[in-house]
Amino acid sequence: MENFVHQQLAARVVFGQGSFETLAAEVALLGASRALVLTTPEQADLGKSAVQLLGKLSAGLYTGARMHVPVATATEAHALAMQVKADCLIAVGGGSTTGLAKAMALQAKLPIVAVPTTYAGSEVTPLYGITQAGEKVTGKDARVLPKTVIYDINLSLSLPLDASVASGVNAIAHAAESLYARLVSPVTSLMAEEGIRAIVNGLRKLIGNPRDVDARSHCQYGAWLCGVVLGTTEMGLHHKLCHTLGGLFGLPHAQMHTVILPHALAYNAPAAPAAMARIARALGAGPDPAAALPALRDFLYTVNADVALADLGMKERDLDRAAAAATAKPYPNPRPFDAGSVRKLLDNAYFGRFAGQ
Ligand code: NAD
Repeated sequence: MENFVHQQLAARVVFGQGSFETLAAEVALLGASRALVLTTPEQADLGKSAVQLLGKLSAGLYTGARMHVPVATATEAHALAMQVKADCLIAVGGGSTTGLAKAMALQAKLPIVAVPTTYAGSEVTPLYGITQAGEKVTGKDARVLPKTVIYDINLSLSLPLDASVASGVNAIAHAAESLYARLVSPVTSLMAEEGIRAIVNGLRKLIGNPRDVDARSHCQYGAWLCGVVLGTTEMGLHHKLCHTLGGLFGLPHAQMHTVILPHALAYNAPAAPAAMARIARALGAGPDPAAALPALRDFLYTVNADVALADLGMKERDLDRAAAAATAKPYPNPRPFDAGSVRKLLDNAYFGRFAGQ
């Protein structure tokens, strides 16, 4: 075996249908007694349910969470947390809400209980991002890692099918890149392969019935595993590219990951055969690394995933700028790249043209 370093991220995970009901008990277990609930405006009703479940442990509700954590939102929510003397934050929602809790935890050093309702995986990573003057500043800090994560399948049932597919493929992207990332270990590789398998099987079943509890539970189980490997390893070309596109052009986060993934993997495949073999196996296509990309393409078509940047609002005239920005700073990736190779990758992604087509 090759040498490796594996840093286990500590979090308590409560998984299962109905587990939202344990919210007050989990807050008490942390020794907290004044929990501030956070949601987006769209999930305010769910926030009210959390407040009810908390009873006397609730210190209030903030419903202003927004995508990419604008600094003004974080400042406003932090002021409320101080005003109500919160000693704990409850993030109920997707990556945007968890992201707000993380920005607040960084400043106020409050523990987070995360109740995820998408498959983004932020709830199990020490990664955070805050947007100021149009630029998203990201970082890694153990203080922002939620202490407890409650995965209740019931809360994901309302996620629309197209958003579920995009969020699930976003999770697959975390796991796929971790397989060839710096800090990969035998443990993260096991989790990544199993995470991809769980999401793929879950989404295949979900498109027949978006309220299928078994399919949803596979997706949420996969999201957990994929999130853990995102937080444990260091991402490469795919994530850096998505970060650049999201920051420059405000493209929808999960959908952008969905479109870029097959192209980033096609680019890295020659330099990462072991990773591609695991991806192929997770997609049910056997152990041949060459089977991974065709199987991924078939899967994306089966679940009606977005396949073209053009459909997400990207302008063709911006591709040169995107390629230049994504390659301005060096970062680890299994295959060397430059603005020219990334420009070609983006061209394929813009038109939804898969490798070999
Ligand atoms: P999101 O949190 O922005 O949610 C999108 C919309 O869907 C919101 O309006 C939300 O209220 C709604 N929604 C969420 N769950 C729902 C449900 N079950 N039913 C109905 N509506 C629901 O989307 P996201 O993709 O989960 O998160 C994206 C953000 O998370 C981005 O800012 C991204 O950078 C960040 N992110 C961070 C990490 C990390 O490790 N730090 C990882 C992944 C994503």
